[in-house]
Amino acid sequence: MIGIAAPNIGSEEFDAVRKVLESGQLAQGPQVAQLEADFAAYCDSKFAIAVNSGTAALHASLVAAGVGPGDEVITTPYSFMATLNCILMVGATPVLADIDLATYNIDITKVAAAITPKTKAVIPVDLYGQPYNYDELRAVCEPKGIKIIEDACQAVGATYKGKKAGTLGDLGCLSLYATKNIMAGEGGIVITDNEDYARILKEFRQHGMSAQYEYVRLGYNYRMSDLHAAIAIQQLKKIEAFNQGRQKNAELLTEGLKDVKGLVLPVVAPDRTCAYNLYTMRATPEFALERDDFIAKLREKGIGAGAYYPKPLYAFQHTAKFGRAENFPHAETAATQVVSLPVHPLVSPKDIQTIIATIQELA
Ligand SMILES: *Cc1c(COP(=O)(O)O)cnc(C)c1O
Repeated sequence: MIGIAAPNIGSEEFDAVRKVLESGQLAQGPQVAQLEADFAAYCDSKFAIAVNSGTAALHASLVAAGVGPGDEVITTPYSFMATLNCILMVGATPVLADIDLATYNIDITKVAAAITPKTKAVIPVDLYGQPYNYDELRAVCEPKGIKIIEDACQAVGATYKGKKAGTLGDLGCLSLYATKNIMAGEGGIVITDNEDYARILKEFRQHGMSAQYEYVRLGYNYRMSDLHAAIAIQQLKKIEAFNQGRQKNAELLTEGLKDVKGLVLPVVAPDRTCAYNLYTMRATPEFALERDDFIAKLREKGIGAGAYYPKPLYAFQHTAKFGRAENFPHAETAATQVVSLPVHPLVSPKDIQTIIATIQELA
């Protein structure tokens, strides 16, 4: 099977983990501090705070931005559930705005229309690895004091006008989950230039502790271990090579599939680069096969295709009150038509040719 994702692990990661095990210092320590310094340098940001998942990064960011009960947070109905769950975790109300079908990111006109006096923050998602249009979003949010929390969990290393994903809002959240562009198994990073936010984030990940056994707020155990940090330090050194591999594979897929009837291939909007955590296209009704059948046939032939995501975020019991299908036609279309193909750097040129030939045959 040509898998949809695979961790890319070299001897450097093995050696780094062994060294930490030998050191006897396994919990948050010098490796985490090193990783934070490396991420801040890589993103050209003042602070990078490590936590133990992208979800924890989002939760902590909302707390740092002062979002709580009674506040509204505008976000997309088309993402991984963590994007919406983090809003519920702080007791705020999610307000969903439909997506733009060209980029699968939130539609800026729908964001503007959804703003009320209660709107405290917007969470745009750099879906599949493509940064959102942050100049447009800032123009809408800044005059009203609305904070931007960038969900860049799929976009580590992508850029918008030369700036790194994660630095494009007031706070940016990255994930180091096993299927992301660089990984630690599990892990997350919050990027910010704001010193107050950085302090709150550090307190929040450690039971609200400001100094040894002094607790200034509610917090959690969201600390990253030095074992995970040691892996991520090595992965971060390879990020440009990894992402170039993804971009090269995406180019080859687009070149090979551009004439297939009924497929809408991914496009990268101006002023940005895409990290291609996923290569996602749409199989429209003009395509030879219905979407689920298409994915099943690809999988039968050893190609790990998948639907990311098969349902919008309001289609579940705990979220149903936040949206109804008729108000989100683009999210509905995406959910029924998307197909993601393997694009990660361990997918070889020969694999890419197999994928293209298989799809041409099915078409
Ligand atoms: C992976 C992901 C998250 C959550 O990250 P975890 O590290 O798995 O908690 C949040 N948002 C998006 C868009 C993601 O893809």
